Amino acid sequence: LDYASYLKNAIRTVPDWPHEGVMFRDITPLLQNPKAFRLLIDVFVHRYMDADISLVAGLDARGFIIGSVLAYELNVGFVPIRKKGKLPFTTIAEGYELEYGNATVEMHTDACRVGDRVVLIDDLVATGGTMMAGYKLLQKLGADVVEAATIIELPELKGGELIRSNGLPLYTVCSFD
Ligand code: IMP
Repeated sequence: LDYASYLKNAIRTVPDWPHEGVMFRDITPLLQNPKAFRLLIDVFVHRYMDADISLVAGLDARGFIIGSVLAYELNVGFVPIRKKGKLPFTTIAEGYELEYGNATVEMHTDACRVGDRVVLIDDLVATGGTMMAGYKLLQKLGADVVEAATIIELPELKGGELIRSNGLPLYTVCSFD
């Protein structure tokens, strides 16, 4: 079994959650399995260890779990991109569309510096709206976003296409049709 299939097999699908018709891809069994969790982090570390990365930015909330471990392993800092209203200091915000309604993510204005070489990470890309919002925040602060990274991509929702067509490379470990 190759590593991508091994990791994909560690992800659980929960039908009809959070509402009917949704197949929710649940990474908690992967995180709970020490061999799978270590392999996942090793895959990301090997991808970025020679990329001269200066910062990892993680998206609320599962991006924090993998992003902070990746930052630690790369020996760089970690920045959280949070849902609206959670960050205490001065923030910049970016809104985006959801299936029903919209959402906003925020980042501290001093979270990165001009020229920082950033990996932007989350667990899953669906429509790509969340990742694009994080990308825009980092760009506003002058960061150089080297790549976006996720465990899972849902190609049907074309988020990968959206992200890549906006000039941001996207790396994903596995995809679900
Ligand atoms: P997007 O903005 O449509 O690309 O949705 C991606 C965001 O929603 C990420 O922050 C994911 O954590 C979350 N998300 C959407 N669908 C799923 C899923 O099936 N499993 C886990 N997270 C999901």
